[in-house]
Formats: sequence, C-alpha cells, structure tokens
Amino acid sequence: MLLPEEPDILVPDRSAAPRDTGFVEMISSLRRPRIFRYREDRLPVLLFVLLTALDIVVYLRVDHVWLLPLYTLAVLLPKGYICAFNHHHQHVPMLTRPVLNRLLELVLSFHTGVTSKTWVLHHCLGHHAHYLDPRRDEAGWMTRDGRVMSTAHFTLVVGASVYPRAWAVSRKYPQHRPVFVGMGLFVLALLGLAFVFRPWQAVFVFIVPMVTCLFGTALATYNHHTGRPTTNHYVASTNIVHPVYNLLHGNLGYHTAHHIRPGLHWSRLPELHEKIKHLIPDDAYFAPGFPLGNNQPIPRPASQGVSQAQCDLLKPKHQTAEEL
Ligand SMILES: [Zn+2]
Repeated sequence: MLLPEEPDILVPDRSAAPRDTGFVEMISSLRRPRIFRYREDRLPVLLFVLLTALDIVVYLRVDHVWLLPLYTLAVLLPKGYICAFNHHHQHVPMLTRPVLNRLLELVLSFHTGVTSKTWVLHHCLGHHAHYLDPRRDEAGWMTRDGRVMSTAHFTLVVGASVYPRAWAVSRKYPQHRPVFVGMGLFVLALLGLAFVFRPWQAVFVFIVPMVTCLFGTALATYNHHTGRPTTNHYVASTNIVHPVYNLLHGNLGYHTAHHIRPGLHWSRLPELHEKIKHLIPDDAYFAPGFPLGNNQPIPRPASQGVSQAQCDLLKPKHQTAEEL
C-alpha cells in the first residue's frame, strides 16, 4: 500500500486550537486565557517583538547617520527569516484572538513590508489555488509567451504587484477587505508619522527593511516552483530538507507537504513530508540558498516516477476564505 490511511497529521490539528469544552474549562480559560494556538510559535513571536523593541530604541535614540545603514544591514537577514513566519501566520494565525493577531501583524508588517491579510489574499487564496497554472498564478513564473522568467524579472514583477494582486483577489473574497485595507492604511499612517518625526531613522529602521523584505520574499520564492512540471502537486514544488534552513524558515523547505496541506501548522510539516516523500521525484530536492549554500538541485539517482493515480490518493486540501 502506497499511502497510510489518512492519519491525524493530514488534517489541521484542531486539538491545538481553543475548543469549546464545557463550563469548567471555560472558567479556567478565563483565569488563564490561552494566547498561542501552538506552543511552537511562542519563541518566534518573542523574537519578533524583541526585534521591534530594538527597532524602536534605534529609531528614537540613534542620531549618527552612518550607524543607521549599518543597523539596516545587520537586521536584514533576521527580518528576511521573519518573512517566512509571516507567511505561516497568514495560513494559520499564531494567536487565539483576532485583536491579538492584528497587533502581531502590526509587528510583522514593520519587519516584512507585508500587512494583514495581504498573503491571505495573494498567497493562500491566490497562489495556492493557481500555482499549477503559472500564467494565472499570483506568483507566476511564466511570461505571457510561455517563457520562464529570469530571477530579476520575477522578483521585480511579483514584488511590485503584491498589493494590486491582493486587491484583485479581494474582489472574490470581500470579507477580507476591511482588515486588508484598514490595517494597510494604519501601517501607512504610522510610517508617515515616523517619517515626519525622524525621517532618516524612519528610512533606515523601517522603510528600507520593509521594501527590501517585500522584494526579497519574491526573490526567495523564485525557486519554489519555477520551471517545475505542473502536471500534479507532487512534481510542482522544490523541496529543501536542510535542517538549518528549515529551522530558520519554519520548515518552509518541506514545500510539497505545505502545498498538500496549507492549513497544517508549520511545525507539523516534517511529519507530513515523511509520509509523502516517496511521491516526490528526486529532481525536486534542492540545496539551500544564501547564506547556507547555492540553490542547485541535489544530484540524486533518477526518479522512479509516480503515476497520476498514486498522486490522486492524497489530494491537496485548499484552505477556504472562511478558514483564513
Ligand atoms: Zn503557503
């Protein structure tokens, strides 16, 4: 038998989410309100908030103009890794209450340049639904005449079109518009105030990292699907199983598993990968990119190939707008 019977790992782990379990637990949850849906998110969120605190201190206290670009350079890479967790948060919100998630997204927005619900629309409801059709994909890698985009072309087109494309997807999912537009304008207003009060500090502490991370995210996603066959979900993604890469990116290297169950928490992806890895062809494994190495395919024996019927045994389960 190719696949185990549908195990718990293949459905979103609802046990980690708050449940309506009766009066006694309701009273105890009032005494000790649960903040995190998954305990694995505690350390990342603590680091995001600490980096925000450092940003604010530097913004308010540092006046030496030459120190500011040095600070930008020092925090760019950590902020780049936060982009991966911002992606995870928009698939599976890290906190239990909407107001807490909006506050966390404020923190994430000022690190990554991507505001509330932008990836929900552009990525979760757009890219995940369309990635097997690169001309329709919101992060599509194919030109209109069917050629593969260069890295620079893809980075510029995808990076510059994130917000217009998210807005376009919101026509189909208007329930996400109030948060998308409201939080977007709020971040823009805060950024404007920060610029008026201390312009150079606002540029180097917030604006340059935000813009760089937005386009950096596009650059980082170039290798996720570019040039891959699009015949089924098991051949269409590249996978990076390097442990340090996955530590820093929240297991985003298990990319086929992520596309099979986008609603699965990032901490559960290695387990799902183990269950489906025999369906993933050998040429879909890549080495990690900068700074852990170059992003070349890992030489492996030729793939034995997996039939469409085998792939159909475990089909992707896309998230709906109501779940997000
Ligand atoms: Zn995703």
